[in-house]
Amino acid sequence: MNCEDFVTQPEKHSRGIPLHTKILIGLVVGAVVGLIANFAASKSPAAAGVIRGAAINVAEPLGKVFLRLVIMVVVPLVFSALTLGVMELGDVRRLGRVGLRTLGFTMILSLSSVAIGIGLVRLLQPGASLTPDQQQQLNERFSPQAGTSEAKAEKAKNVRDTLLDLLPENPLQEMVGAVDGSSPGNGMLAVMVFSLVIGVAITMSPERTQPLVQVLQGMFDVSMTVIGFAMKLAPYAVACLLFSVTSQMGLDILLILLRFVATVLLGLGLQMFVVYPILLVTSARLRPITFFKQVSEAIFTAFGTSSSNATLPTSLRVAREELKLKPEVSQFVLTVGATANQNGTALFEGVVVLFLAQVFGVELTLMQQITVVLMAVLAGVGTAGVPGGSIPLIIIVLKTVGVPSQGIALILGVDRLLDMCRTTLNVTGDLVLAACVSRTEERGDKSIPERALD
Ligand code: ASP
Repeated sequence: MNCEDFVTQPEKHSRGIPLHTKILIGLVVGAVVGLIANFAASKSPAAAGVIRGAAINVAEPLGKVFLRLVIMVVVPLVFSALTLGVMELGDVRRLGRVGLRTLGFTMILSLSSVAIGIGLVRLLQPGASLTPDQQQQLNERFSPQAGTSEAKAEKAKNVRDTLLDLLPENPLQEMVGAVDGSSPGNGMLAVMVFSLVIGVAITMSPERTQPLVQVLQGMFDVSMTVIGFAMKLAPYAVACLLFSVTSQMGLDILLILLRFVATVLLGLGLQMFVVYPILLVTSARLRPITFFKQVSEAIFTAFGTSSSNATLPTSLRVAREELKLKPEVSQFVLTVGATANQNGTALFEGVVVLFLAQVFGVELTLMQQITVVLMAVLAGVGTAGVPGGSIPLIIIVLKTVGVPSQGIALILGVDRLLDMCRTTLNVTGDLVLAACVSRTEERGDKSIPERALD
């Protein structure tokens, strides 16, 4: 998937402050003005009326413009990104055993990261400290019935039907319903499964389907450009939506945000410093400390750029020159991994959705939580390796499980920091994957003697 970085693209044109700094400024301005308004409202009922009016009639509609621009292209974006992602994975067949090992390790890494993220949110409950009154206020403001009616509709379905509905009978109907929650099946999850099927089908006859691939690539690029327009509005949208929330909730909501950041960082840390070392020792026969030293250049590049795609050339060099992995294996694994193996992104997406469900007091059924896990794993395949690539996917998962999507504004202001950290995990995960596949491959080759831990 070749696409311009849709967040830094606008940055190139606007001299001066980079976009992510503007978004952070938006967060601070919105929060500070909101807190002052909250204080003023507690002192005078007249001021409270004016502030409420400003929030409802000015701040919220402006904030929604940003969301609508993203949502309007989310279906073509998910469809094209996932189909193209699967197509790239489709090379798996050509590479036989290496391909299968890549797929196997990718599944293990993605599932473990999503499980860690979701486990931590359930354990630490970072978004659960609002009172039922505050939650009701938030819901009234942001989604009059979304949280309740959609959740009820989901509850009514049994496991058998939910699983069957993963395969859509009418994909177009699912696409239409994915955004407004009216789909008869699983909405966006069904669209994702449809994209997987089409992606696999394309790999079966790559020559004849070239025109379709070009259309999909065009669709993907155009969707990213529209999201680029939305991102230009993001600083103002974040300021507006934060004003609207803090003017009602005061400081409570900001404390919750801090707990959210801590939860994400803890999850990323566990995957990085517990799961990866275990795999490195058991499968790649590498000493974790040596490994981390050898790949440090890629780690720093990922942290600085927030983009797996931009870090790919460094990862390729590190794999060849530092880790001394077989180039034919590492090249394939790292290229596929930059798109398909995004552990940090998958973990983040799962955490955001469950966190916002807690903030808005939306009870997710077991089936909905499984949906979040599946969508987070698939979103790891479909998310572009660019700064903020996961935002459109998160909005659609929120919509699928009935959590108000405006809630995304809460986390957008801190997204750049978390993006730097999750991209670091994404890239390190790709290198772990390359090391595991390459070393298990060598061990499969009986002509190479078994080595001790390097
Ligand atoms: N920035 C991430 C990457 O490039 C994608 C995301 O999670 O937003 O890997």
